[in-house]
Amino acid sequence: MLRLLLLVPTTTYRTQDFVEAARGLDVDMVVASERPNVLSERLPDNLLTLDFADPEKAAREVAALARIKPFNAVVPVDDRTTVVAAAIAAALGLPGNSVAAVAATRNKHRMREALSKAGVPSPPYLLFTLADDPALAAPRVPYPCVLKPTLLAASRGVIRADNEREFVAAWRRIEAILKTDEVAALGAGTDQILVEGFIPGREVALEGLLVKGVLRVLALFDKPDPLDGPFFEETIYVTPSRLPADTETAIADVTAWAARALGLSDGPIHAELRVNEGGAWVIEIAARSIGGLCSRTLRFGTGLTLEELILRHALGIEIGSLERAPGPTGVMMIPIPRGGILEEVRGLPAAKAVPGIEEITITIHPGQEVVPLPEGSRYLGFIFARGETPEAVEAALREAHRRLDFGIAPRERA
Ligand code: ADP
Ligand code: CA
Repeated sequence: MLRLLLLVPTTTYRTQDFVEAARGLDVDMVVASERPNVLSERLPDNLLTLDFADPEKAAREVAALARIKPFNAVVPVDDRTTVVAAAIAAALGLPGNSVAAVAATRNKHRMREALSKAGVPSPPYLLFTLADDPALAAPRVPYPCVLKPTLLAASRGVIRADNEREFVAAWRRIEAILKTDEVAALGAGTDQILVEGFIPGREVALEGLLVKGVLRVLALFDKPDPLDGPFFEETIYVTPSRLPADTETAIADVTAWAARALGLSDGPIHAELRVNEGGAWVIEIAARSIGGLCSRTLRFGTGLTLEELILRHALGIEIGSLERAPGPTGVMMIPIPRGGILEEVRGLPAAKAVPGIEEITITIHPGQEVVPLPEGSRYLGFIFARGETPEAVEAALREAHRRLDFGIAPRERA
């Protein structure tokens, strides 16, 4: 029986979808997480605790286990485990991306360096640290620009500035995020602020699979909400894209170029690009599949989920068709409108009754604190839709969202 090691970070939306995909494959699955689990003692063969922050050590530990019972594949569930997965795969002699390539996708400055060196269309950039004086940095950057931490994700701390005054304000706001205990604990690089030229245009997300260095496009999503800042809230994703075929080809070509520039050759990628008169520009490329619960909008061939497809690819099991199952689909990541304590969600039945809505999943429980961008990093939940056309999918998502009402109470002062 094939043996799979699944690396599950502490905070991810996707454990269930990956575990279900593995169950369907009839493989011997070992799940590794960072904290000892109540079940780890009872299921020592299938649950493992690894220090994901120390990839070399984790790789040595897994290599020792593999000498007793080999693994056929190591699969990271999310961004946070891609580097440790690459280190383990290298130690086990399994095919996959190099640690250096994956690590470059996890640091926005290293990614910009690799892309610009290879000539891949991407924004101009300058790197600063918190030791720099923002008042001296402000006159040196182009406007409009985007300031961002090099290590965070989900648009956290990504802020547009149109002038020197906004630049300094954005800097201070990012500095406060970087100085929180939770972020500072990430270690080296949490004192960096990357400043990029703002690339105008429409944004898309490309979901792909690299097979022996060749990019296979799994899905191209339009992001129909304008993302002009000052914060960049992810909301609606709809596939297939409504862009002209030649633009879609250009997007795929630039994405493949970016993957090569970073040295990525194997497994899922998720890329974000902007398109304007100048062509397609790479905002970001990650060595993982789409985040949140968004993969639930996708089916391939005769009904494979994205997670099944990724596991099959990693294990070398026949995939069949990589063709997306027909029919426009979409998802809305429900943004947090204001900070406070989530008290209740009203209007769910009415929202679910909107034609085309397939499912609405609220992922924050009543009583929990909610934090909007740019400080926050979570969504209230996800709305899934299907329709005759991408326009109909988008309209259904907007109507369902309009019918939802989130009761958020101001946070009590401590
Ligand atoms: P994260 O990893 O947090 O998602 P990104 O670098 O992908 O950070 O930025 C988040 C969003 O901010 C992007 O999807 C895009 O909408 C916007 N953005 C980031 N950088 C730029 C840029 N240079 N020009 C225009 N928009 C940008
Ligand atoms: Ca991004």
